[in-house]
Amino acid sequence: MTQAPSDSPRDASETLDPDDWDALRAQGHRMLDDMFDYIAGVRERPVWRPIPANVRARFREELPRSGGDLDEIYREFSDSIAPYAAGNVHPGFMGWVNGGGTAVGMLAEMLAAGLNANLGGRDHIPIEVERQIVLWMRQMFGFPDTASGIFVTGTSMANLMGVLVARSARLGPSVRERGLPDRGGGLTAYTSVVTHGCVAQAMDLAGFGTDALRRIPVDRCHRIEIDALRAQVAADRAAGLEPFLVIGSAGTVDIGAIDDLAAVHAVCREENLWLHVDGAYGALGVLSPEIAPRLAGLERADSIAFDFHKWGQVPYDAGFLLVRDGEQHRRTFAAPAAYLRRETRGLAAGSPWPCEYGPDMSRGFRALKTWFTLKAYGTEKLGAMIARTCALARYLEAKITAEPKLELLAPVQLNIVCFRYRANDADRINAAIVASLHESGIAAPSTTILDGRLAIRAAIVNHRTGTRDIDALVAAVLEFGARETKARKTGS
Ligand SMILES: *Cc1c(COP(=O)(O)O)cnc(C)c1O
Repeated sequence: MTQAPSDSPRDASETLDPDDWDALRAQGHRMLDDMFDYIAGVRERPVWRPIPANVRARFREELPRSGGDLDEIYREFSDSIAPYAAGNVHPGFMGWVNGGGTAVGMLAEMLAAGLNANLGGRDHIPIEVERQIVLWMRQMFGFPDTASGIFVTGTSMANLMGVLVARSARLGPSVRERGLPDRGGGLTAYTSVVTHGCVAQAMDLAGFGTDALRRIPVDRCHRIEIDALRAQVAADRAAGLEPFLVIGSAGTVDIGAIDDLAAVHAVCREENLWLHVDGAYGALGVLSPEIAPRLAGLERADSIAFDFHKWGQVPYDAGFLLVRDGEQHRRTFAAPAAYLRRETRGLAAGSPWPCEYGPDMSRGFRALKTWFTLKAYGTEKLGAMIARTCALARYLEAKITAEPKLELLAPVQLNIVCFRYRANDADRINAAIVASLHESGIAAPSTTILDGRLAIRAAIVNHRTGTRDIDALVAAVLEFGARETKARKTGS
């Protein structure tokens, strides 16, 4: 005979709740305090440190069959996880384009996890919080009341969804049943050669194939060449193809270039093309009165993809897609299902549900950490912080141009500085300098290739970065550069 389930929900031994809430509370408070210390004291630690083999090996354990002691598990976290994080919380982190996060965002994440809200649908306030962000984003980007928006993992996903909305706008809803005509129906899209790789991937995943993405040359500041864009669209039309989409850039990942979005929009209007903008990190530049004018034209895009987790400093992950024509957006993804039936009252009310605006059914409460961030700091302070990262980039630029051993490799337009140490065999020397910088824990820039030359790339995104971090970066590059060239000369 099977035993009947116990009648009392307070019988903690059968649930996953603790036997002793007081003990858990004390443990939780310790964790919270430790994490505040971790963030407050981040400057005292190296940006990153190499992971010892024995630490890595700790994560090759057997699947646990019986539970362990929370104290012990937390000790493993403190000893083996926290010290070996990527370091993007640290002010010396300048690699790739990563946000620094905030303690406010962390607290909001904790609250969201406590609510365990699922924002796929139904009628509950967490969805209204996400709708509040949609409303704010319409206002921020000058979009109409009919625009829709949705949180996603990041801009890679938002770009893919933008391509899918443009696809269904061009081909109509039947594309969802029939799929694309042979070879993508000859539909072609346009972007600059320096656009992030996730855009080509979006064309692949959307079924067009990456060959259908035309990569247009850029000017010296890495902005798309408008005449070349026009010429390619005309050539493709003449060849019987069907141009349908342009992906503009608001802050390229390599050097932070912003396309002339007003000019790109003019081409799109003349040629009847969808304008999607990859604004992964740069779009939030609208918050800075200094940067906003350079984003002119963004307000006319059909869709914008961007991240709150980069310049917005919201903890990972918090990507967002904003679409001018909300109904077109919904038609791209909505699918009726009996088990998702809507009502006009009760918990099944509140239609339309967020799950109609993207491929995810279950969705976390990314909106809460973003709501907390926007309310706690306000757009003025966030805009000032964004402008400050650009000022730091100019500070670094000035230090580089004043130092004969260093060479600037691209014009500084926003917050990204590409430079290198002058040397014979400079590619290898500079790659070695960057690896040594990482291992030293002083600073963590990344590298990129510009005109076939390896560049040290410092993307200043973290709100904690200051002039002393820039000074430390430059001093360390000079020191490691001298060491590397000497080592090479002596053949050691
Ligand atoms: C970071 C970035 C992406 C990718 O965004 P994720 O949030 O990492 O998916 C796309 N485009 C640009 C310009 C970026 O900087």
